[in-house]
Amino acid sequence: MDTEEGDVKMKIAVASGKGGTGKTLISTNLARVALEQGSVTLFDLDVEEPNAHLFFSEVEQKSEPVEKMIPVVDVSICELSGVCSKVCEYHAIITLANQVMVFPELCHSCYGCLEMCPSKAISEGKKQIGMIKHGAKDHLQLISGLLKVGESATTALIRDVKKFPIQKSGLQIYDAPPGTSCPVIETVKDLDYVILVGEPTPFGLHDLNLLVQVLQEIGQPFGVVVNKAVTGNDRIEQYCAQKGLEILAHIPLRSDIAGAYAKGQLVSEVLPDVKQIFQELLETVTRKVNGAVA
Ligand code: SF4
Repeated sequence: MDTEEGDVKMKIAVASGKGGTGKTLISTNLARVALEQGSVTLFDLDVEEPNAHLFFSEVEQKSEPVEKMIPVVDVSICELSGVCSKVCEYHAIITLANQVMVFPELCHSCYGCLEMCPSKAISEGKKQIGMIKHGAKDHLQLISGLLKVGESATTALIRDVKKFPIQKSGLQIYDAPPGTSCPVIETVKDLDYVILVGEPTPFGLHDLNLLVQVLQEIGQPFGVVVNKAVTGNDRIEQYCAQKGLEILAHIPLRSDIAGAYAKGQLVSEVLPDVKQIFQELLETVTRKVNGAVA
């Protein structure tokens, strides 16, 4: 994939405080309208349930396994000093009367126990935590993380997807995992801007508010998109006005949008008025990022 003269160059995330709010709708359709101006790299970091690829089935993705380091204890050397258990902040290695037990799901691969073991009885092992899938077609590059079922190393996998050695040219769009904890922070840190998606329901507003607090705490610039907007329901508008937050766009609650999305169609390809919403959203965010840089 080559970078073109007219490429929009910025790194933006699409995030929401809860699942099912419309992150993928927004990230995939933003990618589609941006492709009319240049190259796009779309990262699907909703690693427990990546689905951006469903909307770009023309992109063939290759899979690469992702592993994390876990400690392996050589029982023939181990003197049961207990140092590893004291060092481990995550209680991932426990020294018993006659053995040392490792709990790979709890291990954060910090290497603390390997470095501190007085008998040098601990060495590096590997455990697969998921896959990275990547592929390109024309000006679109699509890269997704897929966490192994039962695995909890979400943040580690997101870090690996973001660092994956591909040419990241043009507009970079990061579809964040839902929620307000470490995986979201790992996704949005170092990016230019976050599009925060909210829906005007009591639960939607509650989770939006939580993520607003997180983004303000880490000093990340963001604006709000109201998805499933309904005339007469101004819950999010009132909240944003109180907090001094900017609303970037409204995506209406409509059966033709929901129907196209459910069929795996990009709504910006089949509904011209919705395409215009995404074009204006892209222009607004581009102006904001460029204004911040200027
Ligand atoms: S590598 Fe770090 S997190 Fe994992 S068991 Fe050792 S001390 Fe604990």
